Amino acid sequence: MSVAIHPINTGYISLDKGVYINPSTGYGQEVEVPTNAFYVEADGAKILVDTGMAHTELADLHHPGSYQPGGFRIDERLAALGVKPEDIDAVLFTHLHWDHCANMKLFSNAEFWAHADELAFARDPHILYYKSYESEKIGLEAPFKGVEFKTVEGEHNFSPSITLFPTPGHCPGHQSVAIETDQGVVVIAGDAVFSDENMLPDEHRKLPFTPMGRFVDVFKLYDSMERILDRGDIVLTAHGTGVFEQKVWP
Ligand SMILES: [Zn+2]
Repeated sequence: MSVAIHPINTGYISLDKGVYINPSTGYGQEVEVPTNAFYVEADGAKILVDTGMAHTELADLHHPGSYQPGGFRIDERLAALGVKPEDIDAVLFTHLHWDHCANMKLFSNAEFWAHADELAFARDPHILYYKSYESEKIGLEAPFKGVEFKTVEGEHNFSPSITLFPTPGHCPGHQSVAIETDQGVVVIAGDAVFSDENMLPDEHRKLPFTPMGRFVDVFKLYDSMERILDRGDIVLTAHGTGVFEQKVWP
């Protein structure tokens, strides 16, 4: 069983640590986090999990101070690995927030996979989330506009090594990706486990891990994190730096 998972940093987001990482101690601290996508070779296919964030001008509109350095766009990052956009067979989306699906239309031969609940919400979001999903109601155009998706509900065996499983809470239809490897199960968590610090105990709230502060349903968020931490021998986050401790996982 040969599986290779390459973490890819597509740029940096500035955000409030209390809102996004640690509501117990983080409020008022502006921090900069990477925005990770993953290139996966498994079962004879070339797969992306998320496509990362948008260019600086748009990123700055979402979170002032955010930026995408030159060469960090998803296709430029893949080129450095010798992979062309048209080589990608499938993109598995953890969710459809702006920093996870930018530039998806570059992948002209790929199937796009999302959870049905996420696609429905992304196409018609609550006003509180117009910006996160780049709604046309505020004059933006979402990367997924006019794109056809394959949707899943519940757990889905995508291929022999790869399983999609629902991890809602951060958003309505969030899902994570479990990959069987020689070193155990690697879970690409998406924003359900936002960064490395979220896996540490929350001493302040007396919790075994630290749920982030940005959610549509905090109880589902908690259960999803628990499910991911139980399932994954290795957990790769969407906005932590731990994923870069190895160039290739596992
Ligand atoms: Zn998100």
